[in-house]
Amino acid sequence: MDNLGQYPHRRWNPLRQAWVLVSPHRTQRPWQGELGQKTAPSGIVYDRFCYLCPGNQRAGGQVNPFYERVFSFENDYAALLPDSPAQAESAASPLLVAEPARGLCKVLCYHPDHNLTLARMTEPEIRRVVDAWTQEYREIAALDWIRYVQIFENRGAMMGASNPHPHCQIWATGFVPDEPAAETLAQQEHLHRTGHCLLCEYMEVERAAQQRVVFENDHFAAIVPWWATWPFEVLLISRRHLPALPELNDGEQDGLADALKRLTTRYDNLFEASFPYTMGFHQSPTHGEHPEWHFHAHFYPPLLRSATVRKFMVGFEMLGMPQRDITPEDATERLRASSEEHFLPRA
Ligand SMILES: [Zn+2]
Ligand SMILES: [Zn+2]
Ligand SMILES: [Zn+2]
Repeated sequence: MDNLGQYPHRRWNPLRQAWVLVSPHRTQRPWQGELGQKTAPSGIVYDRFCYLCPGNQRAGGQVNPFYERVFSFENDYAALLPDSPAQAESAASPLLVAEPARGLCKVLCYHPDHNLTLARMTEPEIRRVVDAWTQEYREIAALDWIRYVQIFENRGAMMGASNPHPHCQIWATGFVPDEPAAETLAQQEHLHRTGHCLLCEYMEVERAAQQRVVFENDHFAAIVPWWATWPFEVLLISRRHLPALPELNDGEQDGLADALKRLTTRYDNLFEASFPYTMGFHQSPTHGEHPEWHFHAHFYPPLLRSATVRKFMVGFEMLGMPQRDITPEDATERLRASSEEHFLPRA
């Protein structure tokens, strides 16, 4: 398999137990789609129509405090509610199955400045966000009916983010959602079969190969995974084996802030644009013993070749399997060559 960079092949994703099709020869084909252009932040520090800016009234009628650091609140339009009925109604057919789904949804503003992003925040400012994520996780996981806490950020209109104000969402559920459930099974299987943690082992393979490691610090490694689906997908893995945010020590919390700053800055510099993405942390379920679980973050950015030309998951990808053209190794080289000094320094 010396010619992986030239011929179609499929790669195994052991964390999700699924394949991805890689078609590197297709990067030669002519491109006739839209052309990209650089994008810059709005420069608007306060937007009186933004429901996340300090002092503004939200749609539900509540007024945001004049917060100076981070600020969280329960989503006014939550997709999940704590008080769904406990019992399912009996189904007319075993093929028509439904279950009550309890949960809660919060919004966490990273910063009062409407114009900022993680990439353009300082490391101490990002550290305060890390602390807030940890506090939220700890409080929500302590509720006895919660089984999973999903922290995620949709960044940019291209990813459907309805508001540019720097913020993330926290959806906590009375069940373990499908993605972390599948990763739980894969990690459990690997631990039982080999006696080792899947991601500890995978990280050591990557650190030895040095083909897909974008960068690392003392506490985290940023890797374009062997099985990446999105062009510039990155897996951020804690160097130490631990299951969830509350287990990070002080140095690791700083390490996470440093890694987030460096990764998002490289992303923005890649196309000199505010790089859109969906990112989120995968942590152990909140109930039971989970020696298999290794804390990590996924970054799924849609951009392919410019600030506006994106990858679509359509056609064969919806009906067959995910597919990519640029190899993970090429994507790693592009991200390694991208500077850690932001192209738009903050005033
Ligand atoms: Zn705002
Ligand atoms: Zn591990
Ligand atoms: Zn994961």
